[in-house]
Amino acid sequence: MPALHLNKQVSSKDSSSLPHVVILGGGFAGLAAGKALAKYPVKITLIDKENHHLFQPLLYQVATAGLSAADIAQPLRHIFSGQSNLTTLMDEVIDFDLNTSKVNLVTQSLYYDYLVVALGVTTGYFGNQSWIRFAPGLKTLDEATELRRRVLTAFERAELAKDSGETSLWLTFVVVGGGPTGVELAGAIAELAQHVMAKDFRHIDSTKAQVHLIEAGPRLLSAFPKSQSTYAYKRLSKMGVKVHLNEPVTNVSADGVTLSQSSISSGTILWAAGVEANSVANNLGDIPRDRAGRLEVNPDLRIPNFENVFVAGDLAKLSDHKGKQVPCLAPAATQMGRHAAKQIIRDIAGRSLQPFIYFDKGNMATIGRSSAVANFRNITINGYFAWLAWLAVHLVFLMGMRNRISVFLNWAWSYLAWRQGARIITKKLIGRSDGPSATSSN
Ligand SMILES: Cc1cc2nc3c(=O)[nH]c(=O)nc-3n(C[C@H](O)[C@H](O)[C@H](O)COP(=O)(O)OP(=O)(O)OC[C@H]3O[C@@H](n4cnc5c(N)ncnc54)[C@H](O)[C@@H]3O)c2cc1C
Repeated sequence: MPALHLNKQVSSKDSSSLPHVVILGGGFAGLAAGKALAKYPVKITLIDKENHHLFQPLLYQVATAGLSAADIAQPLRHIFSGQSNLTTLMDEVIDFDLNTSKVNLVTQSLYYDYLVVALGVTTGYFGNQSWIRFAPGLKTLDEATELRRRVLTAFERAELAKDSGETSLWLTFVVVGGGPTGVELAGAIAELAQHVMAKDFRHIDSTKAQVHLIEAGPRLLSAFPKSQSTYAYKRLSKMGVKVHLNEPVTNVSADGVTLSQSSISSGTILWAAGVEANSVANNLGDIPRDRAGRLEVNPDLRIPNFENVFVAGDLAKLSDHKGKQVPCLAPAATQMGRHAAKQIIRDIAGRSLQPFIYFDKGNMATIGRSSAVANFRNITINGYFAWLAWLAVHLVFLMGMRNRISVFLNWAWSYLAWRQGARIITKKLIGRSDGPSATSSN
């Protein structure tokens, strides 16, 4: 394929004639694309609505008071401070005009020669958007701190409860979704109740808290081998988590959840079931999508009909050369971001573009402290050694030395002392709208 005719209408103060690469999203894919272009003569603008890159795999620990928000995020500006060909803008993408190679942000419009769309996915409620209010998801730092507020406040409300019914309502936690995030959340809440909180209250017995994990399908961790699903089920059951399989949620309200065969009264419902494409991507035009709205990209990660637009990360739907769907995982997003960057360089050099080849680095999930499942190709490990591997992998891939040290010290402290360092409620429960209707609205 010949090199593209470069668009010289770069909106920048300097009138650089370098190709302008605009990267949308500073998640795993956007970050990898930006870094992979560091040594090339291109002008890069990276846009994110947040000022930080977020390490989502540890979000559940912020939600359950194990880590602080700042431990798992790093300012984008700092990450790229040494990369002179990249400018970071904290702005929000609202629209595209692909025919004129323009992206519209809240504050301005930018022309590009190449566009990398890496805007990720959001929590999906299968068309029941009204459930968000009662069952927030876990995708951003704001959401993680909101979940933490709800979980910690539930114990406080239980302590203030006027009767046993109210106490039990507040001491019942429901986690919807039996994937890695749901399993990790349920395990962490059970441990919080049984060990961390146990000595801290005078009226309630936090060890009586009930944690329900709801899964619509026949097993937990459906992306893992069946033996690991069984391991997770047994392990969670041993920790006191009540796992419900084959029970889709049919309604969510302030008072609890209705399942296909039963209902559970609960003051705290957390949603970890399903994703949908970032809605901004709808403005990319008539591109084939899967049921979650993810964009079906060409093998080289470009979208049909536009030779200078790449989609990378969770937002891209693609099967690899063996026909296996590339999963929504951080290593896949990183590899896609890098691939998009390499293809841009090839295109500028007038070389043909190559298909994306996914290297499967395996999958891991923790099930409470000291236990995890890990699988790499045909090798599966369960239990303590999988957990040690999980700790090591997450420390290595976490961005920033300060964060690594802080997380390591937090983990060591929690492990030795059964204490969670981030048990701070930063926003008060506002009223009935986000809690069970049985309680006072004060
Ligand atoms: C709770 C949780 C746990 C996970 N655990 C694991 C795990 O253990 N292992 C693993 O491999 N993967 C895990 N994942 C998945 C992994 O985090 C994703 O696959 C990865 O983040 C995808 O990278 P991305 O760059 O495509 O999107 P993201 O990392 O989601 O980045 C998208 C970026 O786009 C920005 N953005 C969105 N909309 C706009 C807009 N309109 N304007 C400007 N900026 C915008 C966002 O702020 C964000 O920075 C987990 C995900 C979650 C939510």
